[in-house]
Parts: sequence; C-alpha cells; structure tokens
Amino acid sequence: MAFERRVRVRFAPSPTGALHIGGVRTALYNYLFAKAHGGDFLLRIEDTDSQRFVPGAEAYISEALAWCGIVPDEGVEQGGPHAPYRQSERREIYVKYALQLVESGNAYYAFDSAESLSALRAECEGRGETFCYDARTRVKLENSLSLPAEEVQKRIERGDQWVIRFKMPECEDVHMDDIIRGHIVINTSTLDDKVLYKSADALPTYHLANIVDDHLMEISHVIRGEEWLPSLPLHYLLYRAFGWSDSQPLFAHLPLLLKPQGQGKLSKRDGDKFGFPVFPLEWHAPDGEVSMGYREQGYLPEAFINMLSLLGWNPGTEQEIFDMQGLINAFSLERVSKNGARFNHEKAKWFNAQWLHSKSDAFLAETILPLLAAKGIDTTVERAAAAIEIVKERATFPADLVDLTYNIFVAPASYDEKSVAKSWKAEDVENLKRLRELLAGETEIDAEATEAKVREWIIAEGLSIGKLMNTFRLAVLGVGQGPSIFAICAFIGLEETLSRIDAAIRTIK
Ligand code: GLU
Repeated sequence: MAFERRVRVRFAPSPTGALHIGGVRTALYNYLFAKAHGGDFLLRIEDTDSQRFVPGAEAYISEALAWCGIVPDEGVEQGGPHAPYRQSERREIYVKYALQLVESGNAYYAFDSAESLSALRAECEGRGETFCYDARTRVKLENSLSLPAEEVQKRIERGDQWVIRFKMPECEDVHMDDIIRGHIVINTSTLDDKVLYKSADALPTYHLANIVDDHLMEISHVIRGEEWLPSLPLHYLLYRAFGWSDSQPLFAHLPLLLKPQGQGKLSKRDGDKFGFPVFPLEWHAPDGEVSMGYREQGYLPEAFINMLSLLGWNPGTEQEIFDMQGLINAFSLERVSKNGARFNHEKAKWFNAQWLHSKSDAFLAETILPLLAAKGIDTTVERAAAAIEIVKERATFPADLVDLTYNIFVAPASYDEKSVAKSWKAEDVENLKRLRELLAGETEIDAEATEAKVREWIIAEGLSIGKLMNTFRLAVLGVGQGPSIFAICAFIGLEETLSRIDAAIRTIK
C-alpha cells in the first residue's frame, strides 16, 4: 500500500520500568512498517507522569532497542528536527495547547481537590455506583463551567491548584477507523472528562502530550498496543477540538501477547512461574530485584526478534525464519491479527536453536571463549571452533556449547553411573581393550577413515557396534551418549584417546 504522506511512526514508551517484550514487539512493528515504506521511526520518551518515573528505565529502553537492531531515525539519543524527544523537556509547549482548548470551549478549569474527589468516589461506591466526572456531574463540581467567571479568575490568581479537563461532548457517536480492527463507534455518554493538564507539576497528562506531539512530529500512523484502544475516542475528539482532524494519523491497535495457556496478558509472573524472561535484557529494579532477560539467557537478537515478529503477525506463507531485512520486505499491517497471540517458550527456544546453528563456528567460538575460560579451559578460537563444529547441532544456547564441549576438552573425572552399569561389563572391557590395540597401531585418528576401519573390524569380529561404541564413548567422555565419538577422538588426538581409555580401565570398577 502506498501512502500520500511520508510514513512517520513513533514508539512512545513511558519510562516506568523494564520494557516488556510486548513493548518490544510494538517497537518492532513500528520499525518494520516505517522501513517497509521508506519512512521514519521515532523514539519519543513519554515521561510526564513524574509519580511513575523509574530511574534507569529510559537507558534500558534505548539499550534494548539497540540490542534488537531497532535503530531510531529520530529520538532522544539521535536528536532530529523535532527535538527534544523527551516530553519532560517539552513542557512549555503543552500549556499553550491546553489553554487553547479552554478558549475554544473544548476544555475547562477544574479546582476540585483530590480529597473531595475521593470522598465523592467513596460516596458513590457506597450506593453501588461509580463516580464519573462528566456532563451529568460537572455542573455540581468546582470548575469554570459551574463557577462565576470572577471566582475562577480569583482562584487562579491567588495560586489555587487547578487542572484542565476535556469537556466530553454529550451523547455523541464517535466514528473511528482502525487498520487492524476496522470501523468502531463509541458513544461519548460512556466517557468521562479526562484531565489534560495539571498546574501542580506544570505537566500535561499522557493524552494531551501524546496528541500534541504526534501532531507536531508529523506522525502518519500510530501503531500501539490494544490497551490504548479505549483512549481512541478521546484522541479523535482532541484532534477535532484542535482543528487537526484532516492531518490526524491513522491508527492500528496491536493484539495482546497472551499467557502460554491462553487467556490473559502475558505477565512477569508467568515468566517467573515457567522460567522464561518477559524482558529483552536483564533488569535491575531500583528496589534491588533482578529480572532475567533474553540477552542474558543466551538468546541471539536475531532469534528474539524473529520469534516476536510472528506473535501477532504472519507472512501468509509457511516461512518462519526471517532476518530483519526479510521482515521489512514481508511485513504489512494487513497481516497483523486482531486476536491475541499466545506466547510459546518452546518455540522461542526453537528459533534460538535455528539461529545458533546458522552462525559460523568461529563466531560461536568467540562467544563462548570467556565461558570456557571461566571453567578453566584455556583454548584458542580455532580449537573452540573445531570442537563446536562437532556438537553444534545439539545446542540451543551458547551455554549448551560450553556443556557439550567441556567433556571433549577435559578428560572425565568421573563416569556416569547408569552408563557404567549398562556398558562396563567384563566382556565390554575386554572388547574395549582390543579396540585400544587396534587404535594404538594407527599413526593418527581421522574421523572418517578410522571409523570405517573400526567398523570393518567390528563386523569381522562379529561384535555389536552399538554396544562397543557406548563403552568407547563412556571411556573417552565419561557419558554414554553424544555426537560422533570418532570426530571427538580426531579432535583430542590419538595419544589423548589412548590415555583416556587407559584411565577408564584403571578407574572404573
Ligand atoms: N506512553 C504510552 C505508553 O507507555 C504510549 C501509548 C501510545 O503509543 O500512544 O505505552
């Protein structure tokens, strides 16, 4: 689809904590959409709620996007023609727009104290009702619609605290369009007079700042989570009140990420319960709590975004493996589902395995070298890469490569008991000794040639290949299972192979 105006989208998180993977998916879809249409992707930090501000959250968001390969064209770090991109640094912009709405009769001053409003709320609750600041109640409350003009003036001048509330039109159908959900109609009788601006901290609320900034930053499409759908009528009415309806962005509300079992939004508690992260990077909360991250759990960023991309979108084909450019080429909002997408931990791991296997042995060797060193294995990239080549297909995470190569690098200090019980009978040991003699007659071990020779000999001797190989593997690796034992023996060399066999014969009782 081609658009008349330049495609400009934004990811507009509030720095209230770690970025949930649902938020990363929102950023990803915005990014893919922008790049698919040759447009711009902006990162705007919506930090006007000083009560919910969490130190470190903004830096976390930037680092997480960078790890994913989602690079803003404009934003808090990049700057750009609409800087600043942090709402707390744009505060003087918003008051002007709030007052403009009061002047045009679309908003009003309200002086009600927090205490009087909570008393009203409690009173209503007592009657089994819900208090709503709206067309029915506003006339009885303390605001510029109910008080005389001089009184309003006086209160403002003497420094009373006030807020500006949107004057929700009475009983009007608001007609809205959503790219994913189609046409939606909501009657304003179900909506309240939302606060747009607060004199107490001289800051706008989310609704005002968001609409003003999307307008000023020339945003063409708002792609965000489904939880913002209830705000859409207010946003439509705000655009109208400002006289910006003609240039208002198109909207797309993304489906929720659901719990693995289905119903309900995927939460951190689900992650804790089932042992998977819900955050891209490890998060150290100000209270000291540490939450796991995909990066630290050994996920490759490619696998992470590949997995996320398919939670709510599908390419319309069987293809599952996509890199970022592939996603940009294939992505469209038309193929984003209305229904929530169920998170699947096994599938996430599957994606990681696929991407891990696609990496070069040298790349993986560089990755695990420090992990090997931490286990006391001092080796080179070349040696590690050669060991990785043998075990790679069995690994999902880099840490698996460490576990799988450990037995190769280090002669066994103990032997798996079950395997000993199964494969270390007197007859097994006798056959292993004969195999040792055969190997000792070679000058070196070659993965293929030696295996062929040994197999030939086993057949000629009428022995069981499976049984002898298990005993051989147990002696060399300490365990009964694993990848090709001949590839491993070629890697450790003839001398080491013989010495491990001798040690096993000496040690295992
Ligand atoms: N600041 C809002 C959030 O935290 C942005 C919502 C929107 O994209 O309009 O998600």
